[in-house]
Amino acid sequence: MQQLPIAEVTKTFRFESSHQLYGHNGKCARVHGHSYIVELTLRGNLIQEGSSEGMVVDFGDIKHVWFKLIDSVLDHAHLNDVLPVRSTAENMCFWILNRLKQMSHLPVHKIRLWETASGSATIWIGDQVGVEFPYLTKKELEEEPV
Ligand SMILES: [Zn+2]
Repeated sequence: MQQLPIAEVTKTFRFESSHQLYGHNGKCARVHGHSYIVELTLRGNLIQEGSSEGMVVDFGDIKHVWFKLIDSVLDHAHLNDVLPVRSTAENMCFWILNRLKQMSHLPVHKIRLWETASGSATIWIGDQVGVEFPYLTKKELEEEPV
């Protein structure tokens, strides 16, 4: 059987948020903000026909889903108010990954979140097999996928 080619595509997004890590032994215990940068990597077979032939997914589709599901929640928000988890960069990667996997049809493979110019967290499918992500609310789980 002939195998279809697999590729990864990455799109970068940016959002601005404030947060506060209660109980943190450092300056993140104070209210402050970040200009977050996210690298969203998708992996899959190339589409074989139609307007997206030769693509893993149309960059326009990634942008549409990102703004509808993630940017609309996180941008210019106080993360303590909108996330069901402590807003560490690592937890935010899990939340973004889980929300995109549960609520879209994007073949998400990896999330890298830059909290500062020199500090980022990365997670990817494969390391996370069998891991429970208790990061979506019941309401999120009931929404229709984009
Ligand atoms: Zn911070």
